[in-house]
Amino acid sequence: MIKKPIVAANWKMHKTPQEGIHFISELNNLLLDKEKPSIIFCPPFTSLFHMNEMISDLDISLGAQNVYFENEGAFTGEISINMLKSCGVQYVIIGHSERRHIFNESNKDANKKLHNVLENEIIPILCIGEKLEDRKSNNTSKVLMEQLKDGLAGINKDMMDRIIIAYEPVWAIGTGVNALPDQVEESHAMIRKILLELYDNNLNNNIPILYGGSVKPDNSEDLINTKGVDGFLIGGASLNLEMFSKIIEIVHNKFMR
Ligand code: PEP
Repeated sequence: MIKKPIVAANWKMHKTPQEGIHFISELNNLLLDKEKPSIIFCPPFTSLFHMNEMISDLDISLGAQNVYFENEGAFTGEISINMLKSCGVQYVIIGHSERRHIFNESNKDANKKLHNVLENEIIPILCIGEKLEDRKSNNTSKVLMEQLKDGLAGINKDMMDRIIIAYEPVWAIGTGVNALPDQVEESHAMIRKILLELYDNNLNNNIPILYGGSVKPDNSEDLINTKGVDGFLIGGASLNLEMFSKIIEIVHNKFMR
């Protein structure tokens, strides 16, 4: 059976609830009755509640961009997994490079969040990826290994059946410069190899690995046809109706051939 590809939209700090709802209703009009990949929207927290009410009849899922690892307490400005669940969230992005590099989140933080999310039966989208200096100094595999080893510490094999990995090279995020298909193929293969090593080859080899980093309509065909790519995590282009619906169509076409 062909795995259904995933297209996840990371809206970052963009769109009010009203703008988000408008976007989804326009997208739904464009895609009405068409077969689609699995689509996951990760809007800002303020949009989750209303978007959940709106998408209940649509073939779209809801994700959050972050979560705190404690369940309750004096953590001003943070949000708990239960709060997200009460808004219908089914996925949570963890360890996005903007969280790592702007908010100093470590692999250890990502790991604590991952445990909390998985224990609450929500699916994490764990983001990993190297910086430009890592790639230039041939340290990509070392960085990916560290992020996976520390990020997945204590996560057992059964939990790994409910995880999505997003390979997002930091130098490609929001820069307009995507990783080339060869680079993506190589990194995705590295990630699979590392996962198998970490779990002594005793792992379901179907864990979805998404690519993220300046995906646009004009590069999405080459990227989705790249070996090892199970879908995309998209920032900038997911904010634009025309671009996002075009990418959805391209991803869908690949899997219908
Ligand atoms: C992202 O935010 O995860 C991302 C990949 O952004 P962009 O598509 O804008 O590079």
